[in-house]
Amino acid sequence: MNAKNNGMSTRMKANAQKRVVLLGGGHAHVEVVRRLGRLALSAQITLVSPSRYAPYSGMLPGYIAGEYAFEDFNIDLQALCQRSGIAFREGLATGLDPDAYRVQLEDGSWLDYDILSST
Ligand SMILES: Cc1cc2nc3c(=O)[nH]c(=O)nc-3n(C[C@H](O)[C@H](O)[C@H](O)COP(=O)(O)OP(=O)(O)OC[C@H]3O[C@@H](n4cnc5c(N)ncnc54)[C@H](O)[C@@H]3O)c2cc1C
Repeated sequence: MNAKNNGMSTRMKANAQKRVVLLGGGHAHVEVVRRLGRLALSAQITLVSPSRYAPYSGMLPGYIAGEYAFEDFNIDLQALCQRSGIAFREGLATGLDPDAYRVQLEDGSWLDYDILSST
């Protein structure tokens, strides 16, 4: 094994221990969750969303017009996360402590992170 490979395996090990929090279950993070699921990383990834369901905005006018049912245009985030090996927390973020790398949820609990993504 050469030095380059040693460096790579050390970096991958460090990445595997990261806690990643994705704040908001909108269009951007839906795609992030889908792609991260394919990579099958061993990092601890958590999606936080105030609702289990994310509406696909492109179909919203059709829903209002009565052409689609709720299930037709809403993405079930909990099911998507489960398929992708990602934890799902239903809740609203109400506070952020960047110095301590943690997010507060509406129930008063804190979620620690190494990497935070907010849309
Ligand atoms: C009617 C309509 C039709 C559209 N059609 C198209 C289209 O055809 N093509 C196109 O490209 N774009 C379209 N757009 C725009 C597209 O919806 C946005 O560009 C896209 O949703 C942005 O994605 P995002 O993930 O950054 O934000 P969002 O999809 O807005 O997601 C943000 C998420 O963060 C969550 N959130 C907010 N605050 C908190 C908090 N404190 N704690 C936890 N979660 C929180 C919200 O609940 C939300 O789920 C349309 C928009 C609308 C309204």
